[in-house]
Amino acid sequence: HRHVNHATREAIEAVLDTHHFHPEAVDWQHLADYRCEGGYELLGQCRAGQVTVDMLMQALETANLRGLGGAGFPTFKKWYFVRQEPGPRYCAINADEGEPGTFKDRYYLERAPHRFLEGALISAWAVEAEALYIYLRDEYPGLHRVLREAIEELEAAGLVEAGYIVMRRGAGAYICGEESAMIESLEGKPGKPRHRPPFVAQKGLFDRPTLVNNVETVYWIPLIWQRGAEWFASHGRHGRKGLRSFSVSGRVKRPGVHLAPAGITMNELLEEYCGGMQEGHRLLAYLPGGASGGILPATKADIPLDFDTLQEHGCFIGSAAVIVVSDQDDLRSAVTNLLAFFADESCGQCTPCRVGSEKMLTLLERDEWDAAELARLSQVMMDASICGLGQAAPNPVLGLLKDFREPLAAQHIIVKG
Ligand code: SF4
Repeated sequence: HRHVNHATREAIEAVLDTHHFHPEAVDWQHLADYRCEGGYELLGQCRAGQVTVDMLMQALETANLRGLGGAGFPTFKKWYFVRQEPGPRYCAINADEGEPGTFKDRYYLERAPHRFLEGALISAWAVEAEALYIYLRDEYPGLHRVLREAIEELEAAGLVEAGYIVMRRGAGAYICGEESAMIESLEGKPGKPRHRPPFVAQKGLFDRPTLVNNVETVYWIPLIWQRGAEWFASHGRHGRKGLRSFSVSGRVKRPGVHLAPAGITMNELLEEYCGGMQEGHRLLAYLPGGASGGILPATKADIPLDFDTLQEHGCFIGSAAVIVVSDQDDLRSAVTNLLAFFADESCGQCTPCRVGSEKMLTLLERDEWDAAELARLSQVMMDASICGLGQAAPNPVLGLLKDFREPLAAQHIIVKG
């Protein structure tokens, strides 16, 4: 059984390893090389009418491609909703990858910017977008250069009209990864999430219907078409379909981006892809979805890691950033670090998030935690915050209250109530 798993892992990893990467000098795949392996053929077929939007939507549905930025919304449905709205429409790609522990978008952009650009241009074509915006976080300066040069190559080759792709730099705000805040920022305003409805598919950039997709989501589109929707869907474990790019960090032997079947469990990911725990460390806890996806104990490391499956445990997979915590780590430091991050990054427009995250931080700094008070504050933040930041900020605290009373006691924190 283990041998079969091992072979599967190697086959999956071969998909990633087609382009070598040197961290000190970004060695990306240029246009000519990408075209040699069939790059931009799908875009050409789309533009020529040989592949229709319906055909592609059908393929994405069969492949079960979902939004890999965190929300997991089926991609073909998003296209469908935007197409229902009257033009002019826009397409905006969210490359703000700011969730702590997430680095998969960077991984793909550094290696294969043209595959990403082809997927992005196909998404823009699918909704007949007037322009394609790419919102890239400023913490990835090397990628600004890579993408600028890749876009210049495309324009010089006549594959895209000059000026159709518009690059915009973020300015270091985590909240601009939230799609409506990103749109505000693209419009030149402070990145503050909007109330919904209306959804960005109806009223997005410059108040026009806008398709917002994550980098990795569109990256898969040319590959799914080339290899077949069934190929993508044939991966998956424990009843899930597809592949997920896990950004793994923490106390494992092999951290990094691991492309693995959707629905794999923490134990399987750890053993088969990450080389196990580092010497002298025992799995104590893991965060399945970065800072906002909550925290689970080692006793719950056999739950399928995927959209929808972690909810009953108060967690979510988000962008699949798995942070592994060991018995050598200080749980309170880990969680106060997360809360301090949320308090810093709150845009401040709603009180439960702005004041609640600060208040939560103060409560966590005490050596005696009042479970009822923490739970009440969490509930207010979850119920009354406008966006996911304030709604998800209490998740790690609730996780500790639920499953970690013993290890907390060992670290001299008494939980009352
Ligand atoms: Fe801003 Fe926080 Fe409210 Fe979101 S929940 S809109 S980040 S104050």
